[in-house]
Amino acid sequence: MNTTRNRLFLLCFLACALILFPLLAGGATVPNNAAPPNEDPKAILPPGPAVNVAYMDRSVRPGDDFYDYANGNWIKNTEIPADRPGTAPALPLADEMDKRVKDIILEVAKSPAGDEAHKISDLYNSFMDEAGIESKGLTPLQPHLDAVKAINNKKELAHALGETLRTDVDALNNTNFHTGNLVGLWVAPDFNDVDHYTAYLLQGGLQMPDREYYISNTDTMKEIRAKYQAHVATMLKLAGFDDSNARATRIIALEHAIAEKHISLADNDDVHKANNPWNASDFATKAPGLDWAEYFRGAGLSKWTRFIVWQPTAITGESALVASTPLETWKDYLAFHLIDSYGRALPKAFADESFAFYGKVLAGVPQQRDRWKRAVGVVNNLLGDDVGKLYAKRYFPPESKAQVEAMVTNLKAAFRKRIEALQWMNPSTKAEALAKLDTLYVGVGFGESWHQYSNYEVKADDLFGNLWRGSLSEYQRQVARLGSSIDRKEWSMTPQTINAVNLPLQNALNFPAGILQPPFFDPKAPAAANYGSIGAVIGHEISHTFDNLGSAFDSEGRVRNWWTREDFAHFEAATAKLVAQYDTYKPFADLALNGKQTLAENIADLGGLAASYDAWKASLAGQPALAEEGFTDDQQFFIAFAQSWAEKERDAALREQVLTDGHSPGKYRALEVRNLDAWYAAFDVQPGEKLYLAPAERVRIW
Ligand SMILES: [Zn+2]
Repeated sequence: MNTTRNRLFLLCFLACALILFPLLAGGATVPNNAAPPNEDPKAILPPGPAVNVAYMDRSVRPGDDFYDYANGNWIKNTEIPADRPGTAPALPLADEMDKRVKDIILEVAKSPAGDEAHKISDLYNSFMDEAGIESKGLTPLQPHLDAVKAINNKKELAHALGETLRTDVDALNNTNFHTGNLVGLWVAPDFNDVDHYTAYLLQGGLQMPDREYYISNTDTMKEIRAKYQAHVATMLKLAGFDDSNARATRIIALEHAIAEKHISLADNDDVHKANNPWNASDFATKAPGLDWAEYFRGAGLSKWTRFIVWQPTAITGESALVASTPLETWKDYLAFHLIDSYGRALPKAFADESFAFYGKVLAGVPQQRDRWKRAVGVVNNLLGDDVGKLYAKRYFPPESKAQVEAMVTNLKAAFRKRIEALQWMNPSTKAEALAKLDTLYVGVGFGESWHQYSNYEVKADDLFGNLWRGSLSEYQRQVARLGSSIDRKEWSMTPQTINAVNLPLQNALNFPAGILQPPFFDPKAPAAANYGSIGAVIGHEISHTFDNLGSAFDSEGRVRNWWTREDFAHFEAATAKLVAQYDTYKPFADLALNGKQTLAENIADLGGLAASYDAWKASLAGQPALAEEGFTDDQQFFIAFAQSWAEKERDAALREQVLTDGHSPGKYRALEVRNLDAWYAAFDVQPGEKLYLAPAERVRIW
C-alpha cells in the first residue's frame, strides 16, 4: 500500500503510498529544454518541512478548520498550473525530479550506440520524434488491427483476448485495480505459500477509470458518459472505421455490461474474499463462456495451472459476456481498446483527442504537459531502474540515508511500545504483532538489486513498438518467475519516485530517495517538523502492516488469522468508527468520501501520526524542543503534518480521486489530528468548535 497515487497520466504508480502524486501528475510549465546540467538542485527545491507561516491563515481557529488554519493562505495564493490536475507545495520537487532525470538521459545519450545504457536515450528520443510519429500514421498498429479483423469465431476471440493480458494491475503494493484489458495479471507471493510467486487474476475491461463512471446516475457522470460516446466515435473515425457512432454505442454498451459485473473498489480490500485458488481446469466450470484453455494459450500461460481469482463474480460475469455478446462487437471493442490505449503514441490528431477526453474531461486539465516531461515519464515507467541506478548515486546523500534510518528505528520502537501498552489485546495476538514488527524489512533510498531489461528491445524511431515491447517484456519477465522463490527485499518503486510503499506479502517497506528531500524531509529541519512530515509517512507505511488489510497477514506474509476472536472484534469496532468519521466528509454536495474504500489508508494515517508523535517525543530524550516562529513544539509538529497534506485539485480530478482512490484527499487526511488528545492540548480546542470530538468519540486503534 503506498502513500499516493496517479492513474490517468500513463505511468501508473498507484495507490498505497502517500498522497501527493495524483495532483502532481499531469504536467508542468517548465520550458522545453530547460535544465542546464550544472544547476544547483538545492536552489530549486521547495522549503523543507517547518512551520511555513506564509502558508497559514491565522484568522481561522485551529479547532474549526485545522487544514485551513495551516494552509489557508497557500490555498488562496496558489494557482494550479494549466497542465496539472492539481498542485501541492511539492510541485517544484516533482518538476526538479523531471529535470534531473532528463539530465541523466542527455548524458547517457553520449554513450556509444548499442550500449545497454543507450536504451534510455533511445526510448526518450522515440517519444520526442513527433515528425516520425506523424509520418508513420497508424502503420505501426496495423498488424495488430489486421489480426483483430481476422478473428473468425469465439475460439479465436478467446486467443486474442489472452494475448492482451499484461501485468498492469497490482492489488496490494502499488494498489492499481484498473486495466483496460478484460483481465489483469498480478504476479506476487502466493497468499497460501508466501515463499513462491503465483498468478493473481483481476477484473478489467473498462477504459474509463472505474465502474462508477458507467453506472452512477449523477448528472456529472451522465455528462461524462455523453462525452465518452463522442470520444470513442472520434477515435474510431480517425482510425478509418465506418459507422463509428453505432460502433461506439455497442462498445460502450459492452463496457457498461462489464462494469455491472465488477465489484466496487471498497470490496476489493477484503483479502479473505480475494483468496480464491482456482486450477486452470476450474475456469470452464466456474466461469463458463470464454474458452479459457485458448485464452491461457494466447496469454502464454498454458503451462501454469494455479491461479488466485481476486473477484470471482466479476471474472464469471465477464466470461459469460464473451459468450452472449456478438463477435463483431468484441472485435470493435478490441480495436478501440488498442487504439485508445496507445492514443498518446499516435499522430497528433489521436494524441490530442486522447488528451481532450482523459486530460480535459476526466481530470479537468486544460493543457497538455510539455512533451519532454511526458517522455521522461515513459522512461521512468519502462526503464525506471536503469535511470534509478544513476539517480541514486548522484542525488541521495549518505547523511539523509543515515538520518532517515534512525527515524525508522525510532518509529518502530514507538510502535512496539504502543502495541505492548494496548489494554484490549491478548498476549498471543500481541506476540504475533510484535513478531511482524521485528521481521519487517525497511528499505531506505534504493533497493539492493536492480531490474534487468536485457530482453527489452528499444529503437530510437519506433515509439509504438517501444511501448508495446516494454509492456510485453515486463509481462514475460513476471510470467517467467511464476513458481520461483520470492525475494523479500525486492523493491516495487524506483529510487526517483516521490512516494513510499508497504508490501504486505513481503512484510517490507520502501522509502525511495525521491521522497526523502524537501518538502517532506530535510536533514537540517527542526525534528518536530521532520517527524510531523516524513515521520508520519514512515509511520503510515509501518501502520499498513496492521491496517484492516495488513492485519490479515502474519509475520511471514502468510494470510492467516493470528487474532483472537475478542481482539478482532475490538479492532473491527474501532475501525467502524473511523469508517463513520470519514463517511461524514463531503467534498461535493452530491459526493461524500467512502469511509470503507479509504479505511486502510485512514488507519495508516492515524497510526502513523500517533506513532510519529511518540517517536519524536522519545527522540528528544527529555530535552525541550525549540519553539520556532512563536509556536510551541507540539504546535510545530501538528502544523507540519497538516502542511504536508496541502493540496489544490481541479473539481474533475478531485471527483475522480474520491471515486477511484483508496486515499482520502489531503484536506481530510490532515483532519486525522482530531483523533489525537495531544492536538487538543496543543491548540486548546474546546467543545463547540467544529472539529471537536469528545474523548470517547476519538478513534484509537494502535
Ligand atoms: Zn498507504
